[in-house]
This record gives sequence, structure tokens and C-alpha cells, in this order.
Amino acid sequence: MNSNPLLQSFDTAPFSKIKNEHFLPAISQLIDESRAEIETIANNDESPTFENTIEAMEFSGEKLGRATSIFFNLNSAETNPEIQKIAQEVSPLLTEFRNDLLLNEALFERIKTVYNQKEDLDLSKEQVMLLDKKYKAFSRNGANLSDDKKQDLRKIDTELSKLSLTFGEHVLEETNKFQLHVADKNDLAGLPDGAIEAARHLAEESEKEGWIFTLDYPSYIPFMTYADNRELRKKLAMAFGAKGFHGDDLDNQEIVLKIVNLRYERAKLLGYRSHAHFVLEERMAESPEKVLAFLEDLKVKAKPAAEREFRELTEFAQKLDSINRLEKWDSSYYTEKLKQERFNLDDEKLKPYFELKNVISGVFTVAEKLYGLHFKEVDTIDKYHPDVKTYEVLDDNENLKAIFYADFHPRPGKRNGAWMTSFKPQKIQNGKNDRPHISIVCNFTKPTKTKPSLLTFNEVTTLFHEFGHALHGMLANTTYPSLSGTGVYWDFVELPSQILENWCYEKETLELFAKHYETGEMIPMEYVEKIKESANFMEGMATLRQLSFGLLDMAWHNRNPKGITDVKAFEVAAFEDTQLYPDVLENCMSTSFSHIFQGGYSAGYYSYKWAEVLDADAFAYFKENGIFNRDIANKFKEFVLSKGGTEDPMDLYVKFRGQKPKPEALLERAGLLE
Ligand SMILES: [Zn+2]
Repeated sequence: MNSNPLLQSFDTAPFSKIKNEHFLPAISQLIDESRAEIETIANNDESPTFENTIEAMEFSGEKLGRATSIFFNLNSAETNPEIQKIAQEVSPLLTEFRNDLLLNEALFERIKTVYNQKEDLDLSKEQVMLLDKKYKAFSRNGANLSDDKKQDLRKIDTELSKLSLTFGEHVLEETNKFQLHVADKNDLAGLPDGAIEAARHLAEESEKEGWIFTLDYPSYIPFMTYADNRELRKKLAMAFGAKGFHGDDLDNQEIVLKIVNLRYERAKLLGYRSHAHFVLEERMAESPEKVLAFLEDLKVKAKPAAEREFRELTEFAQKLDSINRLEKWDSSYYTEKLKQERFNLDDEKLKPYFELKNVISGVFTVAEKLYGLHFKEVDTIDKYHPDVKTYEVLDDNENLKAIFYADFHPRPGKRNGAWMTSFKPQKIQNGKNDRPHISIVCNFTKPTKTKPSLLTFNEVTTLFHEFGHALHGMLANTTYPSLSGTGVYWDFVELPSQILENWCYEKETLELFAKHYETGEMIPMEYVEKIKESANFMEGMATLRQLSFGLLDMAWHNRNPKGITDVKAFEVAAFEDTQLYPDVLENCMSTSFSHIFQGGYSAGYYSYKWAEVLDADAFAYFKENGIFNRDIANKFKEFVLSKGGTEDPMDLYVKFRGQKPKPEALLERAGLLE
């Protein structure tokens, strides 16, 4: 008998029974079992139907999914060298399994047969979405191409993955190789103690005197924000902006050109007009034309505010330090100075009002008021670390809606940042609604011997953000697991998370939980007002900057790039209408634009702003009717949170809102309207 706990059936993940040595054998065996399930579907003698092909695929591989979610979640939240080593072995097996699946011709023939009968099958909207999703997973991977062209596609894909890898390696090497070595203590003027300490530490590590600053964000950002020495800020900023642009063996210009050309060729091969057309087919935004119209519209509306702010900042710098021409390396520095002058609000003042346990109960109360959810902490659920909290999530009638795990504080085995994930998806199978197991993982300030965990306001909004994703998971109510909860198009997934952040700025919400941890005093309303105002500080410039990145990304990807030979010149042209600061000749953004040339954001950078427009527009609807209005909350639950990816996101949005999203609410919230 096999005693591997990952191969037994279980409901909540049996963490205490799982040992590292269980992962590889379990996942290997479950891959074999999933392959066998797929072969059975592909070789079925009966003619293909939605049920025996599409639905059968959707419900196959369930155990494998559960085992891998446990494994990869642990690799993020509670890892160690052994788990990392196993990940190196497991990942290629899973990639191979996935690739083989997508190249399975017999299987694709069956999917295609069903797909071609789509109109006659009397399918529900959810079933149509599932069918499209399965079909496109294959067709977008070249399943419809002739054998020659399939070969070409594989060649392009191999080449592209090599190039992205090299691009990333170059950026990393450029980042690591530069150091700003400060020997004179006076050059540290303006910097907070924490930043100085970290710089000292870096110097010690390389056995140097003085202080070392690098191009890593935790070192770079404080320096650009606080260092009084303008020449040194310039030096650091110039190094930051020149990554991959030195004409040496770490230069990325050729790589950028190769990547955009190969992406274009790949899109053409698959029958799309451009790479952006290919990407946006599976997005709420639908097409490059719509994305460009969206970006241009926001640009026109945000630019006057951005120009006004730029003038204001210029005058401020002129008055303060007689700066005649504001440069890029002055931006964060004077913005912070002006912000301090105007708001005089820092984290230390606010933190006593945001004790973690109060904030948690606050976010639970918000979920209760909006969606009738109740969180009951339980100690009967197995956890992967003693710090993890576990809850049963019940509705008003005490029905179990979800299991919720919350893991709040940093540990050596946890990666940075904050995220939501799941250990078990929601689905309806054989008439049974299987409820999901959702988790959020954060890295919040730890309690000390004398103080409980007190959060910065930024951590408060982060908690609401991740909890918003968690609600998307917990309230899911769909048949198919791959369309459940957060299984939506990329530019729709941040709506549930970002919208919830809005509640943090509201008096009615803060009254629920923002109490001083010692005195119990409510947060002063003056602070609340300042939080709101400072959140929008210099938002016009920030918006224009985000738009410029979105426009550059689209420029690289929505056309035939064959004629482009000069990366810098192309970039300057794309930026033409969005730049406030003088251009720096020695700098280039594209050669280190990892989001689009290394990560998966190509033709997708716009989605940051897109999601903000959605969340502002959706929240405005709440605001008009009361932020705890149950009717509006019910609509949001019914048409957005519970529906996952079962319908076109724009249709869902319109059902909730009664109209398509408009940018005005965002512009108003950001204080960009005249
Ligand atoms: Zn998010």
C-alpha cells in the first residue's frame, strides 16, 4: 500500500503528513495517471461530444492539480533548498506533460470537431467559454498548422525563450555590476537611517570602507528619493537608465529587435495581424485599436494635470535649491520634499492605528457587511507553519463557502511581496458544489516583544487588495474549475482586488477598525483626509508615466517591426507626447523593460491603468449608493465575483454596472479633472 499522503484522497491539504521526499514520486505518478486519463479521452471510440471531450478534459488531472498547488505554494511561502531542488526536477516534467498535451493530434481532432459544431450544441455561456478556451489553447499553440509550419513555430518559440532569458540575464548582470561607492559621510545627507545602514552592510559584505548603493530597488529607491547630493543622484539614475545600453556584450538592443520581429513572425504564422492582436484576443480590451484609444483618451485627459504638476515641482525645486532645469533624477526627490511640506504625514504617525488584528477584523467586517460572509477561526485544519491562521468561511445560513488560510509575517523561506493563491479550486461536479480553499500570503511588519504587529497604511491597502482576490476565490460559483474565481482574463483579474482598496480610504470603514492600539482612540479624521489627498499627490505625472510605458509597449507590438533599426530613436518617437523631463541620450528604457521583453506583459502593460479605470468606475457606483449598500454588493457578487471567467468580462461588467466603464471616476479620484 502506498503511504504517500499526496496520493491518498484528502480535503484540506494534509501538511503535517507531507514530507519533502513525497513530492517527486507523487507528482511523477500523478503525471502518469493524468497522461492515461488524456489518452483515454483522445482514443475514445465514441464520436466526440462536449461531455466526453471538453468536460472530460476539464475534470481530468484533479489530483495532480492539488499536489502541484500544494508544492508550488510551499515553494513560495515556506521553501528550503531541498524544495527548491525538487522544483528544478518537477518543473520540466510538468512542462513536458503540458507540451505533449498541446501537441496531441488525436485529442485536438476531437476538440476541433466539437468546436466546429459549437452553434448547434445548445451550450450554456459557461460551456462556450470553456470550449473556446480549450480550443484556443491548442490553436494558439499552432495545432492548426501544417507540419512544416509547426516546425517553424517551434523554432521561433525556442529562439524566443532563449532571447528572453538572455535579455533578463543581461539586465540582472547590469544591475549587479554597478555600485555607487560613497566614502564621504556628507554624501549621505538626507537619507533615512535604514537606507544608510543597509548601504553600510553592503560595503561590509564586500569588505569596503564607507557605503555602497546599488541599482536594486531597495537600495536605489531610497537614494533617489532622499539623497541631497544631486550629482550622486544623477550618477545612480544614469546607471539605472543605461542598463543593456552600453554597446558591450551585455547590450540588449539587438535582442529587443530580434524579439519583436520573432513575435511578429509568430503572430503572422498563426494568422494574426500583429503580436498585440494575438495577445489581446484573450483580453477584456480585445484589440490594439481599443487599447490605443484607451491610452490616448487617458493621455489627453491626464496631460494638463501632469503639466501643471511638473510646473509646480519645477518652481518648488527652483525656490528650494535654485534648480533651473528639473531632470529625471530630481523627480522622486523633490516630489517627496514637496509632499512632506504639504502633508507632514509619515508611517510612524499612522501605524499605531493599524494593529494587524484590528485590520483583519476590519476586513472581515467589510466582507460581512457586503457579502454576508462570516470568518470563524479554527484550529482543526492542518497548516504548513504555526504562524498560519485558518478560518472557516460561512454564509448567513452557516453554509461553508470556503476555507481561508492567512499567512502574514516574513520568514526566511518566504518570498517577498504579497499574493493570493489557492489549495483547492471551486467546482460543481455531479451536482455537488465543491468549495475552494483560498490563501493569502503577506510579509507584514512583525510584532516585537513590546509592540503588536502595527501596519503601515500601505500594508493595510495591501491586505485589502489580497483579500479582494481572496473574495473572488471564496465566492466563486461556477461549474468548471479552470473558469472559477480568478480564472479570468488578465486585464480583469485586478478588479476585485483593487476595488476593495477603496474601502480603506473611507471614514465608514476606518471607523470599524482604525483604533489606537494602546488608547483605543479612533484615527483622527484629519489623518484620513491627509491619507486621501496624499494618495493622489502628483498623480498626473505618475499617470502620464504609466501611459508612456503602455504606449511604448504597444508601439513595439502592434505593427510589423521589420523597418525598425534604431531602438533608441524608435523609443523617443513613441514617448514623444508623454515626456515632461528632458531626454537622457545615454539612457534607454526598452533595453531593460523586463516586463515586456522578459516577463509576460508584452502588449499587456496597459492593463495596470485599465484595471484602475475599472475599479474606480465600479467603486463610484458603490459610492453613489453607499459603500455598504447590499444591493450593489449583491450585483457585484452575482455578476463579477461569483462568475469567474464564465462569460465575457465586458458583458459581466455591464450587467453589474448598467454601462461600460468610463475613465472619469479614475480621473476624479486621482484629482486630475480641472
Ligand atoms: Zn493583485
